[in-house]
Amino acid sequence: MSTNGEGQHPVKLDFLGNLRRTHKCGELRAENAGDRVLLMGWVHRRRDLGGVIFLHLRDITGITQVVFRIENAAEVHARAEHIRGEFVVAVEGNVEKRSAETVNPNLPTGEVEVVVEKVWILNESKPAPFPMEDDLSVGEESRLKHRYIDLRRHRMQQNIRMRSDVSFAVRNSLFEQGFHEIETPFMTRSTPEGARDFIIPSRLSPGSFYALPQSPQIFKQLLMVGGYERYFQIVRCFRDEDLRADRQPEFTQIDLEMSFVQQPDVFVVIEKMLVRAFAAAGFQIEAPFQRITYREAMDSYGIDKPDTRIPPFHRVESLFEGTPISGNGLPMVAILIPKVGQISRKERDELKAFGQEKNLRVFDDAKRLERDYPEQMAKVREITGAAEEDLLLLANWAAEPDAHLPEREALKACGQLRLYAAQKYADRHKLLDPKKFNFLWVVDFPMFEWDPEENRWVAAHHPFTSVHDEDLDLLTTDPANCRAKSYDIVLNGVELGSGSIRIHRADVQQKVFSALGFTPEDAQHRFGFLLEGLSYGAPPHGGIALGLDRMVMILAGETSIRDVIAFPKTARGTDLMCEAPSDVPDKLLRDLGIMHIRK
Ligand code: ASP
Repeated sequence: MSTNGEGQHPVKLDFLGNLRRTHKCGELRAENAGDRVLLMGWVHRRRDLGGVIFLHLRDITGITQVVFRIENAAEVHARAEHIRGEFVVAVEGNVEKRSAETVNPNLPTGEVEVVVEKVWILNESKPAPFPMEDDLSVGEESRLKHRYIDLRRHRMQQNIRMRSDVSFAVRNSLFEQGFHEIETPFMTRSTPEGARDFIIPSRLSPGSFYALPQSPQIFKQLLMVGGYERYFQIVRCFRDEDLRADRQPEFTQIDLEMSFVQQPDVFVVIEKMLVRAFAAAGFQIEAPFQRITYREAMDSYGIDKPDTRIPPFHRVESLFEGTPISGNGLPMVAILIPKVGQISRKERDELKAFGQEKNLRVFDDAKRLERDYPEQMAKVREITGAAEEDLLLLANWAAEPDAHLPEREALKACGQLRLYAAQKYADRHKLLDPKKFNFLWVVDFPMFEWDPEENRWVAAHHPFTSVHDEDLDLLTTDPANCRAKSYDIVLNGVELGSGSIRIHRADVQQKVFSALGFTPEDAQHRFGFLLEGLSYGAPPHGGIALGLDRMVMILAGETSIRDVIAFPKTARGTDLMCEAPSDVPDKLLRDLGIMHIRK
């Protein structure tokens, strides 16, 4: 005996015993009429019309309506009176066709219902904290606190199942392409991906710590030294980064590494894999993907992860040279957003204000420009292909030239204006269609970035990335112009993954470490085991890692990665359900040699 959610009716619970389902709740169709079936599931909805009780019974496959009629089975009907939402029940009965007026076109099983002759109440439920609707208005906190209930919602089940299907497709494709799935340690030594490490104190080596991997980077390279040639892993990575809206401290990467390859070989593998993964989610995509260099991306989009659903901008400073609106040789661009139509005075002012914030002068009045600069504007129209209904903007850098990378800063600002205008007007003409998947490889990133805080060059990707063969000498003479054999895969303006051809020679790796300002002792201390590994016949190799969470988020049409992770953490890095991070017993801290800091 037990009480139900409202605490009023004592409900006797039944055992599962040898009961087994004959069908799932999403399976029954008109052809099943007359079948005797046994279903199990959760009570999604309950309607009590006195002599008749209707339940919508739900499992992961769908919903079936089941009916308890007092005239058929009074005892069973009486028992059904105790049943409430989210109770777990089993029912046995006959499938009947519904009359034409009662067919439910919203359910795949809507042509039939099960007339119940036997019922078992397998478990009761407290009233659910929120309804099982797809479009919930309840705050995310409540959803995360009762995640197991949130996970029952159709939309979440679709997302999590899609994730599983996508992972399955990724595995299949990689196995078919000759990869081995190999696990690498979670308890390891700090690996440099640029973020802070999560650390685990060691009890057996007091004062020492393991680090959770930011990525399996060094291990996968050492697997190449170990001769495995093609490794992959769908692997959790851990990065203790500052709070950002859609970051998780632990996230999943599709991580792979290959021997005896160059960039294009990695691209072919990934393109095949993505075609398969997207098909698993119901989308057909075309490979090969477009490839552009970092330089081209900056020159045409002002960003290293361009959304190519929007046209590139065009540099027009040479056309306007010597005119009052020229930008003293700094970039001037023409931005075209197709099919926007008329925009209001207020919208024009908003564009200008946004430009101003980014140090850009925005010329939004194409008519006026055409009057003042007819020749130049005829060329601008020719280059951009602008039509009457398109929005055409010119912009140039309004601030004083900055000694440090002024051109790149100006291009970045133009890129931001382009995105701002596109996003603002996207709804008008479905320019940013989420079901249009524009993949892009961006290649030849600079090897180094200048870090003004640390006042030194830092690795733009990571320090194991190979430089272009012909740029090897620039390592010491001109680091700013040294190109890396690194690449990003970008989807609709989102960086989905990045990788590189690695340094496979210990002497070159030493050189890069020293270009990055590591002393030989420092390099030895942090990466000695890698250097040692490279000195034992490391093959040329390269690889990549793609963010699975982000990819599934895009496929599922969600805007938060939390909606495609079963048990995610909040933006503050906490798990509201199990209340982690949490306090631990003093004894454990003592064993670890950690002093207890009382909050
Ligand atoms: N380890 C890199 C990352 O996690 C990816 C790679 O270079 O393969 O971003």
